[in-house]
Amino acid sequence: MTDRRTELADNLAHVEERISTACAKAGRNRADVTLVVVTKTYPASDVRLLAELGVRHVAENRDQDAAPKAAECSDLPLDWHFVGQLQTNKVRSVVNYADVVQSVDRPKLVTALSKEAVRAGRELGCLIQVALDAESGDNEGQLGRRGGVTPAGVDALADAIAAAEGLRLDGVMTVAPLAGPYAGHPRAAFERLMEISSGLRGNHPAANMVSAGMSADLDDAVAAGATHVRVGTAVLGVRPRLG
Ligand SMILES: *Cc1c(COP(=O)(O)O)cnc(C)c1O
Repeated sequence: MTDRRTELADNLAHVEERISTACAKAGRNRADVTLVVVTKTYPASDVRLLAELGVRHVAENRDQDAAPKAAECSDLPLDWHFVGQLQTNKVRSVVNYADVVQSVDRPKLVTALSKEAVRAGRELGCLIQVALDAESGDNEGQLGRRGGVTPAGVDALADAIAAAEGLRLDGVMTVAPLAGPYAGHPRAAFERLMEISSGLRGNHPAANMVSAGMSADLDDAVAAGATHVRVGTAVLGVRPRLG
């Protein structure tokens, strides 16, 4: 019987090997890709083990679960990323523990994040979540339950974040689409995100984070040029179904 620590160490080693291999194939430095471990649905004890095993970035997608977990782990040297759809009434709580919100997708959220960041006296990193499933459809801003702004909406949102007190525009994020022209083609989706990132960096050179890739497609994300991969299942195991 293996204990949880050994299991996590083995899984991390395997993910590390995938990232290194993908970097080598793409001619990239391993140091240019940051592993963010998505700890949603797993307990604070796992977060603690991960920190002991050298993980420095963790991500959560639901404030109800994340807030108590982050409080329990506040002694650990971790950066907390928020990656879920964020309602404005949860913003005050999220700003207390999040270092980066990767799922910024609408002006109203920018206003709320700015207000609470100023109030908390914190600087909050922001990634614009781009919805690539909408590329060919009608562009009407925010879409679907997975969130994200259409590619056409990125520039305006970027300017809003850059102008907002308490917020720092760090870059872009996407989830490989399940619908639209990129469904089943994560590599192409991530290459499209890289183009969007290049465009963004024309106006905002410091916004160079590109968060793409999960357990199933992190190799494609690294090949395309992602700077951050968000990995849950491959490190922690298959999650029980969320309600
Ligand atoms: C859950 C989640 C991940 C991690 O997914 P896995 O397939 O478990 O690696 C990454 N990004 C977001 C936005 C998520 O919600």
